[in-house]
Amino acid sequence: MTGLLVNTGIDAEAAELNIKNYAISGINDIKDINTFQSYMSTLPDYYLNTYLNNDGIIRFVNGRVGTAADAPETFGVYWVDNHNIDIRTDISVQEEYGEQREPIIARTFKHELGHYYYHMYKDKLSTKAKEQIKKNFDYYKNYDRECYDENETFAVLFSNYYTENSDLAGDETLPYREIESLIRKE
Ligand SMILES: [Zn+2]
Repeated sequence: MTGLLVNTGIDAEAAELNIKNYAISGINDIKDINTFQSYMSTLPDYYLNTYLNNDGIIRFVNGRVGTAADAPETFGVYWVDNHNIDIRTDISVQEEYGEQREPIIARTFKHELGHYYYHMYKDKLSTKAKEQIKKNFDYYKNYDRECYDENETFAVLFSNYYTENSDLAGDETLPYREIESLIRKE
């Protein structure tokens, strides 16, 4: 089953999954909805508004996403050509990662959205913020194997920044703070 993120404008029905003004319709494989909601609530809604207003589509997929050889271990994909995002929700990751599924889905959600903002907003940032993106990569590549290029590092840190207990240093968050103010001005 594939679920779609839609803007309801009203309170979603009980069978749907709410993220403030949004609902994921047609999905029933996120078991702990409250947990998922609380992990998602740290992401400002304007990120989703902007993304969806630009015709982005977020699909929640019960099954493999992506085409890469590592697709069985891939939790999410951002498609550069049409900006769509696919998020896998059926993986039993608890045993493997010692973590609940809902925080992983929420983190994947934010991570893939981070790729969108990297692609669409990087060129609009100040020189200082662009330099900070490079610095973040140069630093985090030594500590996190997910941070293997600038784009991935940006997405990893985006997802980290919009969590309740983000541990990013003030200057590391500059690119994200700039994007926030760009979106607010649009
Ligand atoms: Zn990524």
